[in-house]
Amino acid sequence: MPDTSIRSLPLSRCSINTATLGHRSPIGEVIERVARHGFGGISPWRRDLEGQDHRLVGRHIRYAGLSLSGYCRGTYFPGANRAAFEANVADNRRAIDEAAALGAPCFVFVVGSLPEGTKDLADARSQVSEGLSTLLPYAREAGVGLAVEPLHPMYAGDRSCITSLGEALTLCESLDPSRQGGIGVAIDVYHVWWDWRLSVDIAAAGRSGRIMAFHVCDWLVPTQDLLLDRGMTGEGVIDVGRIRREIEGTGYDGFAEVEVFSRRWWSTSEDDVLAACAKGFASI
Ligand code: ZN
Repeated sequence: MPDTSIRSLPLSRCSINTATLGHRSPIGEVIERVARHGFGGISPWRRDLEGQDHRLVGRHIRYAGLSLSGYCRGTYFPGANRAAFEANVADNRRAIDEAAALGAPCFVFVVGSLPEGTKDLADARSQVSEGLSTLLPYAREAGVGLAVEPLHPMYAGDRSCITSLGEALTLCESLDPSRQGGIGVAIDVYHVWWDWRLSVDIAAAGRSGRIMAFHVCDWLVPTQDLLLDRGMTGEGVIDVGRIRREIEGTGYDGFAEVEVFSRRWWSTSEDDVLAACAKGFASI
């Protein structure tokens, strides 16, 4: 039986991933709006901060009373050739600098998959492993965790060759066998909810101290678009509350970060989206 004794959490434990608001307003306005609605955290995307001073944005976030739950997201590692791969690693190194300047605890990696025109998934995985391995000492020095986010297998062709929490954990162990830390996972319910091994892998992630982020939203039936039809938490078929309890059962006491890519939600006002995020969070 799931443990239903854990009470619902205050909104201060909920963070807003800025993609949820559709990247419509300047980051300064988004920070103020998220704070005004009573959330405790925010996770900006690189595209929101182009041309900005990351240190100043980080300060604005803290002055608004918010914490950072992460920084999104990595440039895909695999390249069609060595030069492309190295450029991708270099871009991710710059992103780690930005995350450090912001004061973000982790940088979230959607790792990429097959470069266009290729079919070698094993090579893509090997490039991902090499890229993370190259960046790990640098990220440790910067105090930024590398959070590998496994994606749903429907994205294996383009967005992520890492498709399960178990696979992501195996990768973390291979790159950090002594569990020094600095590399872990971002667990997004949208990507992992279907996995029959999920409970076992969440427990393993907790034991090894690898849970760096927890993303919530929902899976709609039917799903109309593979990328832009996520449900708000509570709208779909994922037992988000159960997954939350399992994750917190490992000792994780960080944010639940609402990350909803949805044309439908992006067509409503940002205030309505945030109100729905709060309602969805209360439901878990
Ligand atoms: Zn996510």
